[in-house]
Amino acid sequence: ASLFTAIEMAPRDPILGITDAFNADQNPNKINLGVGVYYDDNGKVPLLECVRKAEAQLMEKAAPRTYLPIDGLAAYDKAVQALVFGADSAIVQEKRAVTAQAIGGTGALKLGADFLKRFSPDSQIWISDPSWENHRALFESAGFVVNSYPYFDAATHGVNFAGMLQALNAMPTGAIVVLHACCHNPTGADLNDAQWKQVIEVVTQRGLIPFLDMAYQGFADGIEEDGRVVRHFADAGGPLFVSNSFSKSFSLYGERVGALSIVAASTEEAARVLSQLKRVIRTNYSNPPDHGGQIVATVLATPELRKLWEDELAAMRVRIREMRQLMVEKLKANAPAQDFSFVKQQVGMFSYSGLTKAQVERLRDEFSIYAVDTGRICVAALNSRNIDKVVAAVAQVI
Ligand code: PLP
Repeated sequence: ASLFTAIEMAPRDPILGITDAFNADQNPNKINLGVGVYYDDNGKVPLLECVRKAEAQLMEKAAPRTYLPIDGLAAYDKAVQALVFGADSAIVQEKRAVTAQAIGGTGALKLGADFLKRFSPDSQIWISDPSWENHRALFESAGFVVNSYPYFDAATHGVNFAGMLQALNAMPTGAIVVLHACCHNPTGADLNDAQWKQVIEVVTQRGLIPFLDMAYQGFADGIEEDGRVVRHFADAGGPLFVSNSFSKSFSLYGERVGALSIVAASTEEAARVLSQLKRVIRTNYSNPPDHGGQIVATVLATPELRKLWEDELAAMRVRIREMRQLMVEKLKANAPAQDFSFVKQQVGMFSYSGLTKAQVERLRDEFSIYAVDTGRICVAALNSRNIDKVVAAVAQVI
């Protein structure tokens, strides 16, 4: 027997499995709502104009490809801090926040997880029920026990806030709580401001460690607006972990651009934290790739490109909102017996549509419309040409 004889096949990634099945489907009218990607109204992943222009500038410069610093491009990290904590953040000015460029939002989460495992090895992790499908595996692979707290309320299609609060109140000091800063994936259900205030109070009072995952800044209400939860947590004093990603907001999925920020209690503490975070990076992949970080840093630091980005991101946000609105209106006309108005209350790229596994299977088998078994649909994959087909099919299966 060789080393590999006894190795079992790993389970397929449920979401990527949907894409495999979709690709194999011969129906020319097939529609994939199972993805976690923003498509424009033509059903294409956009290349943003701000990105194209920044790349043209970078090509013109033809800079050599040396190694970046362990924690990434300084200009990028600075731009991330301004975006995440606010341009005039006292925490940033006092150098209490440290930021390291990371390999996408996933890479940022993994850096945070590895760092926490070194310095808070006995803590356990709590993620929302449900959560992004990679959260559990990612923290488990860093060596943590991962628990979940109540989050989604299927009856209201919103947040089970009482359940969530009760769970937070029962967690031991030092527990690490992963929270979606905005645009909850997979449900689309976010907390309101008053609820966030309560969460921050409990987290602070009980000495829990908040880890905010912000993969969709700018997709709910706006760049500033969506960052406010991070700011309120930072104002509460820290410690605080924030992973952010530009995969969606810059449509730079394959470039793997994200960052991990950590808020400490003092400048001196922050310096020690950064030095240890660099060790985590150094022993994982040494230093991050250059190109994506250069694009984002260039766009954010160039006023005209920044304005262009804000407009392009706003267009994505508005288009998603329009699709929510249209879907609700059209379902009301086609399937008046069932209320789908909650789809308009949900935010971001996804909706827990309330469709059952059996209904999702019928959509796939009878209409070549692909969604996640849980009923999650990607609203950002709807467009003016496929929405009528989707609505007609949903009306048939419910
Ligand atoms: N966190 C959440 C909640 C996400 O939805 C995603 C992506 O879908 C990520 C993290 C990972 O982002 P990235 O693709 O930049 O690694």
